[in-house]
Amino acid sequence: MLDQIYRKAILTVAERPQVEKLARERMWPLAERFVAGETIETALKAVKQLEADGIAGNLDLLGEFIDSPAKCTEFADNVIKLIDAAHEAGITPYVSLKLSSVGQAKEEGGEDLGLKNARRIIGKAKGYGGFVCLDMEDHPRVDITLQQFRTLVGEFGNAHVGTVLQAYLYRSLQDRESLDDLKPNIRMVKGAYLEPETVAYPDKADVDQNYRRLVYGHLKAGNYTNVATHDETIIDDVKRFVLAHGIAKDQFEFQMLYGIRRDLQKALAQEGYRVRVYLPYGRDWYAYFSRRIAETPRNAMFVARGMFKG
Ligand SMILES: Cc1cc2nc3c(=O)[nH]c(=O)nc-3n(C[C@H](O)[C@H](O)[C@H](O)COP(=O)(O)OP(=O)(O)OC[C@H]3O[C@@H](n4cnc5c(N)ncnc54)[C@H](O)[C@@H]3O)c2cc1C
Repeated sequence: MLDQIYRKAILTVAERPQVEKLARERMWPLAERFVAGETIETALKAVKQLEADGIAGNLDLLGEFIDSPAKCTEFADNVIKLIDAAHEAGITPYVSLKLSSVGQAKEEGGEDLGLKNARRIIGKAKGYGGFVCLDMEDHPRVDITLQQFRTLVGEFGNAHVGTVLQAYLYRSLQDRESLDDLKPNIRMVKGAYLEPETVAYPDKADVDQNYRRLVYGHLKAGNYTNVATHDETIIDDVKRFVLAHGIAKDQFEFQMLYGIRRDLQKALAQEGYRVRVYLPYGRDWYAYFSRRIAETPRNAMFVARGMFKG
């Protein structure tokens, strides 16, 4: 409950235009801890650095709540440029995509623009043996995202497109089971948005318990599972679970965010686990950065010190 109150306070303040203006002016040096630069070049350089430590990258061009259809299509073109650039740099493209940023729920020519643009992006990634993960956004988008995920797996196969389930949503266990026929590649997360109690567990203990249920259920069903958390207790539990159930190390991977628990990322890779780091980059970093700050009071102190000094 306290976590919810803290998250709400931070995200509400962060949405104020005056705060955003001040933050954009002063916080880039701080945001750099969580964001792999503003350009494709800096993002690819960061992937190469991770790869040197045996860690894979998951590239995310930042951009949320993009309004006009033309801007959505331009955003999709930029993701395609990123995929080409990764391939040219010798990196197998693995990108994350928010369907809202490419036109989900906007109609163009009798078709959903998000689905149309996602097809172009996934088709491009597939051509290079790559992968696109459809990020999960706030709860009103879950139904449409899962429907579109089903359509896209049908067209491109589960080796080239995956999605995300959020443990804070009451519905996620049922969603996981309803997708089982696809043998889907799913990233399990706790959930990062401000959600009402009508749809999401308000208590962290319930979210953590549901997280374990989702991961264990997906692994037991024989599906590829992305265990996306920095929670060391859960990570240790997952290690014990896979050992006890004879689940091979190539059926799952640990995923973390750029700049968070680098020590743990390296340690897991050294133990022989697959590890992938989510690297957001781009000029539109503010909303992403605010969500990271909302996750832990320690980060808010770090930002407050940077924002108000000097
Ligand atoms: C690869 C990846 C992809 C994601 N994709 C999505 C998505 O598509 N949709 C979505 O809603 N959410 C997504 N998330 C965010 C996720 O929902 C959580 O908000 C976030 O991962 C924090 O939760 P946690 O599992 O690490 O556990 P928590 O219980 O929040 O944290 C566990 C521990 O991790 C450390 N920690 C966690 N967050 C931070 C931080 N910001 N800074 C410093 N330390 C921290 C702290 O030590 C904390 O005690 C993603 C997360 C990851 C790792």
